[in-house]
Amino acid sequence: MMCAYCDRPLECEACLTPYVPPDQAHYDALSRTEVPIACEACGAILVCHWCKTPYDGSAGDESSFD
Ligand SMILES: [Zn+2]
Ligand SMILES: [Zn+2]
Repeated sequence: MMCAYCDRPLECEACLTPYVPPDQAHYDALSRTEVPIACEACGAILVCHWCKTPYDGSAGDESSFD
């Protein structure tokens, strides 16, 4: 699975486990930044090991911070 932000292999920052979507819904969620994604191995909110981008669901709603 590639990171949606930096196109490198997506690994959990907390436990360095490569993220593998358990099903199609999770796979689709990776391209929808408003959907939070948790690491399947350690349960933490997934943070890309390479670009440090959190998949916490906040990226798709930046306009609300203004
Ligand atoms: Zn990344
Ligand atoms: Zn993890």
